Amino acid sequence: MSDTHQPTLDEIRRKVEAGSRLSAAEGEMVFRPEVDVHAVGRLADLVRRRTNSDAAFYNVNAHLNPTNVCIYRCPLCAYSCNADDERAYVMSDKEILARGREAVEHGCTELHVVGGVHPDKGFDWYLGIVRMLHEAYPGLHLKAWTAVEIARFVELAGRPVRWVLERLIEAGLGSMPGGGAEIFDPAVRVQICPRKIDGATWLDVHRTAHALGLRTNATMLYGHVESPRQRIDHLVRLRELQDETGGFQAFVPLAFHPEGTRLAHIERTSALDDLRTVAVSRLMLDNFDHVKAYWISLGVGTAQVALAYGADDLDGTVCHEEIHHQAGADSPEALTVDEIRRLIIEAGFRPVERDTLYRAAERQL
Ligand code: SF4
Repeated sequence: MSDTHQPTLDEIRRKVEAGSRLSAAEGEMVFRPEVDVHAVGRLADLVRRRTNSDAAFYNVNAHLNPTNVCIYRCPLCAYSCNADDERAYVMSDKEILARGREAVEHGCTELHVVGGVHPDKGFDWYLGIVRMLHEAYPGLHLKAWTAVEIARFVELAGRPVRWVLERLIEAGLGSMPGGGAEIFDPAVRVQICPRKIDGATWLDVHRTAHALGLRTNATMLYGHVESPRQRIDHLVRLRELQDETGGFQAFVPLAFHPEGTRLAHIERTSALDDLRTVAVSRLMLDNFDHVKAYWISLGVGTAQVALAYGADDLDGTVCHEEIHHQAGADSPEALTVDEIRRLIIEAGFRPVERDTLYRAAERQL
C-alpha cells in the first residue's frame, strides 16, 4: 500500500474485525465528519464488547480539590484563580479530613484529589494531605495529583520524579489520575496551557509512576483549538507509552467546556463529536482496557449513549466536583448509585461496581 493510499471504512472495518491495530492515517479517516459516526460507533462497540463484554463499570467516589489557587492560570481553566481573588480558597487540614470522613460515610471507595498549584505551598503540604487522609481513612483509595502537580513537586523538592513518587506512595498514594495531558502537540499547548509542563514531561511522569507499580489514567481534552490530526497524535503517543509500560488503566476523553475560561468564544462540542471521539479513542487505543464516558464532562445523556460507542465505564458518583462545573458543565453535581445503575441498564449493559483498580467491589445493594 502506498503512502498516498486513503484508507476506506471497509478496510478499517476488516482490520478491526481481525483485531489489527489502526494506523494514524486510519484514525484520522474515522475522525472525518463525512464518515458515518454511527458506523464508527458500531466498530468501537465491537472492540468494547471484545474487551469488556457487556459490563459497564462505575465506582462510588468523591472529589477533593484542596485549593483553586494556581500559578499557571491556563487559558483553558475556569476553575483556578490568583491568591488575591475573592474566589480563592485553601482548605484547612480539618476541612480536608471532614471531606475524607464524608466520603467514607457515603460508602466511597475512592477519593480523587487534584487542584491548583499554589504559589506558597511546598511539597510537604501536598504530601501531608495524602498522609493525613491515608492515616485517618486507610480503606479509602487515594487517586491523587496529576502529572502537572507531580512535576511541580519535583521542582519544589529539587529531587527526581521517582523520589517524589516514592514519598507519596509511602504516605498512602494509591494511583494517579490522568489530568493535565490536554493535547500533547506544543502548537496547541501554547494556546491553551502555555505554562504547563509539555507533553514529554507528562508522559515521563506516568512512565516513572508505572515503573514504580502505580496505575494511572490518561486524558485528552478536546474540542478547543486542536485538529483531528493532533487528537490522533495524542492517542498514538499514549498508545506507545502503554506498549512500553502497560501501566494505564483507563483513557478518559474530556470535552472542553469553554464557559468562564479565556477561550469562551469557542463553541462547545456537539454530542456527535463527543460520541465520535469516544469511538475513535476505543479504536486507536487497542492496548487500553477501559475507555470512560465521564458523565460530568459529556453530560449524563451523551455518556449513557457513549456506552454503545466504545465506552465501558461511566466513572463514579462524584460528590463535590468543582473543576468542570466552574466551566459551565450542566451535568448534576452527583449521581446516586441507583441512578448510575439505571443509566447503564437502560443502555443495555450490565452494571459492575469496581474499585479504583477495576476489581469488582463487594457491596450488598
Ligand atoms: S488547568 Fe490545572 S494547571 Fe492549569 S490553571 Fe487550572 S488548575 Fe492550574
